[in-house]
Amino acid sequence: MSNVKYTVAVIGGGVIGGMISRELTRYGVKIVILEKGNDVALGASKANSGIVHGGYDPEPNTLKAKLNTLGVEKLFKAASELNVPIKRNGSLVCAFSEEEKAHLDLLYKRGFENGITALEIIDGDKARELEENLSESVVAALWVKNAGIVCPYELTVASIGNAMDNGAELITDFEVVGINKDGVFEIVSADGRKVFADYVVNCAGAYSGKIASLVGDDSIEIIPRAGEYLLLDKAEGGRVKHTIFQVPTKDGKGILVSPTVDGNLLTGPTASVVASPDNKETTADGMNKVNTLALKSVPTVNFRNVITSFTGVRASNKGGDFVIGESAACKNFINVAAIDSPGLTCCVSIAEYVMDVLKGVGLKLELSADFNGTRNDPHFFRKMNDDEKNDFIKSNPTYGRIVCRCEGISEGEMRYAVKTNPPASDLDGVKRRTRAGMGRCQGGFCSPTVMKLIAEERGIGKEQVTKNGGGSYIVTEKL
Ligand SMILES: Cc1cc2nc3c(=O)[nH]c(=O)nc-3n(C[C@H](O)[C@H](O)[C@H](O)COP(=O)(O)OP(=O)(O)OC[C@H]3O[C@@H](n4cnc5c(N)ncnc54)[C@H](O)[C@@H]3O)c2cc1C
Repeated sequence: MSNVKYTVAVIGGGVIGGMISRELTRYGVKIVILEKGNDVALGASKANSGIVHGGYDPEPNTLKAKLNTLGVEKLFKAASELNVPIKRNGSLVCAFSEEEKAHLDLLYKRGFENGITALEIIDGDKARELEENLSESVVAALWVKNAGIVCPYELTVASIGNAMDNGAELITDFEVVGINKDGVFEIVSADGRKVFADYVVNCAGAYSGKIASLVGDDSIEIIPRAGEYLLLDKAEGGRVKHTIFQVPTKDGKGILVSPTVDGNLLTGPTASVVASPDNKETTADGMNKVNTLALKSVPTVNFRNVITSFTGVRASNKGGDFVIGESAACKNFINVAAIDSPGLTCCVSIAEYVMDVLKGVGLKLELSADFNGTRNDPHFFRKMNDDEKNDFIKSNPTYGRIVCRCEGISEGEMRYAVKTNPPASDLDGVKRRTRAGMGRCQGGFCSPTVMKLIAEERGIGKEQVTKNGGGSYIVTEKL
């Protein structure tokens, strides 16, 4: 590794690093993605609401507003090229009083200023026509017709997979702890490995401030803000069709109730400043808040159907806007920092914006004739009808063995996940790529078989298979 010099090193394997890497390979640039985890999509890109925000929320004339407005359609296009589930379900921002109704007018005007026209203010009855389970207390709503839902971790995996298919290299377990510059950048990992590059793009999420400080740039202060969620079983998935918000407060867009692209119901997130981005705990207070406020919007949600809870940490900053550009402290070092919400919505528009920044600092970008922006559908099997499945199973028998009963995932899909770019190496990696273990039993039934398949595909013992890297072994010794 030490002798290879890359043109660009991207630090961080989240959705922002992924989409920027994909964009760079469109121009045939020699790049490496450096990720401290043992897999991609382990930061905010794994644990968020998965909403494609319509663009009414960011303050006009900010980078957030500009990239949100541009980002929505770009994301729909990229997701369909990458075969990632995405759906335009629209959202409703609900007002429960006349005072809140006045706030909807502000959001409507702000949306128009941001260039969003797919907005309409409707009364409570019309809102309940659209959503029969909506609370009787809703007096009006802002109907955001261009909004949608997407699977954030699948999008991240697919963007990095597509970049790798087009020549990008991914190095996991590479925690960047030092960056020296003597003409080229020398990037040093915690275990002493070194990577060289002409340009560095800092997409380290909640750690982007810390990475910037490695080149003497102390201008970015990230304030980690945790958001707790409760995810409900598919039995609740049909409770609402739109994403239901309440009028935003100073803490953000508030508690939502939303279907997911995979048919579950998502409620949350809270918003509380935490000491460290690694603080991913869920709390009794947080869960109570999610429960209470979700019921305010949709009183019939049955919280007995919760299947899991989780927390994501936003990379917020004081200024409230994205920080994207060459560092004033270091030439050819590009910060893509403080990418909190709506960063997922903006991932493609951010990636294109970063191409302009890189061009501006001298990187030559010419479209590569070899670039292929489409990605095979990892879910092709479950989309087949029964006749097609029967035919396919004849030549691929592993697809005939269902391992995850809750989600109906076959052995073939799991083996595929361990072999394709970027390869899954542990139980959670297979889960994020295939949904095995995402169902009602949360992996209680299928985990031993998934472990066996990972061990076989990777040529390791079952006792070496982990849940999520590090020391998270599932069994302690060979049986
Ligand atoms: C609770 C919550 C809800 C949200 N909801 C939405 C939403 O509905 N819609 C929307 O548009 N946006 C939403 N967002 C925002 C969106 O999730 C983020 O903007 C986006 O995921 C940021 O991606 P990223 O790649 O910048 O960061 P991350 O996904 O955090 O990726 C950063 C990566 O850098 C790696 N890294 C860190 N330090 C180092 C190091 N030293 N060396 C190497 N690698 C390192 C990390 O391991 C991580 O993989 C939400 C965010 C949160 C937390």
